[in-house]
Amino acid sequence: MKVTVDTKLCAEMGQCVFSAPEVFAFNDNGKLVWESNPDLGLRDAVDEAADVCPVQAIFVEHD
Ligand code: SF4
Repeated sequence: MKVTVDTKLCAEMGQCVFSAPEVFAFNDNGKLVWESNPDLGLRDAVDEAADVCPVQAIFVEHD
């Protein structure tokens, strides 16, 4: 599974961090950071994060 975020679209509202805290987080500068190759077991959480992102900035490629 490969996760990418279009940081130009991301409005840093944090819904993805709430849905999949194992994958998405804000760093000390308040910028979104993410794990680009999360474990397969996190698939549902990642899909939910992509669904709830208000600007559809999260892209998930499943293997
Ligand atoms: S939910 Fe979307 S807009 Fe909000 S922080 Fe995550 S990627 Fe950015």
